[in-house]
Amino acid sequence: MNDFSSMETPHGAGIPALEAGGLLTVDLGAIAANWRSLRERANGAEAAAVVKADAYGTGIEHTVPALHRAGCRTFFVAHLSEAARARGVCPEAAIYVLNGFLPGTAGTYAGLALRPVLGSQGEIEEWAAFCRAEGTRRPAALHVDTGMNRLGLSLPEGLALAGDPRLTAFEPALLMSHFVGAEEPGNPVTARQIEAFAALRRALPEIRASLANSSGIFLPGTQHDLVRPGYALYGGNPTPERPNPMRPVVRLEGRVIQLREIRAGETVGYNGTWAAQGPRRIATVSVGYADGYPRAASATDAKARAGSAAGEAIVAGIRCPFAGRVSMDLITLDVTAVPDGAVKRGDPVTLIGDGIDIDEVGRRAGTIGYEILTGLGRRYALRTVGG
Ligand SMILES: *Cc1c(COP(=O)(O)O)cnc(C)c1O
Repeated sequence: MNDFSSMETPHGAGIPALEAGGLLTVDLGAIAANWRSLRERANGAEAAAVVKADAYGTGIEHTVPALHRAGCRTFFVAHLSEAARARGVCPEAAIYVLNGFLPGTAGTYAGLALRPVLGSQGEIEEWAAFCRAEGTRRPAALHVDTGMNRLGLSLPEGLALAGDPRLTAFEPALLMSHFVGAEEPGNPVTARQIEAFAALRRALPEIRASLANSSGIFLPGTQHDLVRPGYALYGGNPTPERPNPMRPVVRLEGRVIQLREIRAGETVGYNGTWAAQGPRRIATVSVGYADGYPRAASATDAKARAGSAAGEAIVAGIRCPFAGRVSMDLITLDVTAVPDGAVKRGDPVTLIGDGIDIDEVGRRAGTIGYEILTGLGRRYALRTVGG
C-alpha cells in the first residue's frame, strides 16, 4: 500500500499528492508489456495502439511515447485535437483520426502529417480533391461499416471502391472495419462481419487491412495486416468470459479523511438511502463522482434488497462495502470489518487496484470498464511509474 506522505511530486496533472483528494498511478511499463503481448498474439500483423480519449484516461503525453519506445508505430485517436497532441510527442508515427474528416480540415491534417479515416463519399471526395490540388498522394484509411451502422461506407459502397479513380489521387493506406461485439463469444454478428470483411479484402487486395480491436485479436483469423487494440493495453479484460490475460495499468487511491461510529438504524449520505443494520464504523474517503468515480456505484438498501452490486474499496487489506450514496467529492465506506486501530485519518484507500480491476468497478457501477477508465477525472495527483 502506498504511503501518501512519501509520494514524489507527481507530473502530468501537476497536483501535489498531499493537495489532491486521490492519487492516480499509471504504470507505463504495464502498458508497454500489454502492447508486446498483444503483438505476439497478432500472428505477425502490425500492432497499432488506440489512444483516443486521452489514451483511455491514462494521458496521451506519456502513454504515446511509452508505446513508441516499445515499438508501436501506428496510433489511432478520435479527434483531430487528440491527433495534434499525439503528434506533439511523437513526430514519426502514423496517426489516424477515427471520427472522420470534417469539411475544411484537410490543411490541418496535411500540416501535421495526420491520416483521416474516410467513411463517406463526401470525405473521400474532399481528401482526393485536396491531394490532387496539392499534387501529393497523402495516406488515409477507408472505413467500411460491416454491421455497426455508425461510421463508415456501406458494404456495397466499399466493394465498389475497386477500380475507383479517386483512390489514385491519394494513398489508400488501410482498409478497416470495426466489430459490434467481438468480446461476446458466439455473437452471430461477428461471423457475418468477418465474412463481409473477407469479401472487401478480396475486392481491394492491394490495401493493408485491419479489423480487430482488443477482443478481436483473441478471435481466430481476424488479425489481417494490422490490429487496433485499445482497452486491453490499459489493463481491461478483452476476454470477459475468461481470466484477464492483461497486466493492470491503473491504480486509484483515495484517503480516509474522517472516521465515525454510528448506531443501528442511522443512515449515511444524501437522502438517507442506506441504514446501518447494527453498530457500524464509517470511513469518509476524499474521492467522489466529480473525480469520475460513478455515482451509480452507490450502496442503498433498495439495491441490497434487489441483489444489485455496489461499490467496494480496500482499507488496510480488507474489502469494505460502500455505505450510502457516492457524493460529488466523497465516498462513505463501511469499515466495521477492519480491526480497531488498523485504520486512521489520512490512510490510503484503494478504489482501483489490489484485485479490484476496472472491469469489476464497471460491473459494480452498472457500466463497463471502458467508461470507468475514460471518465477518471482530472483532479487527481497523477503519478506515472515504469516509464
Ligand atoms: C475504440 C476503437 C478501437 C479500440 O477498441 P478496444 O475495444 O478498446 O480495443 C478500435 N477500432 C475502432 C474503430 C475504435 O473506435
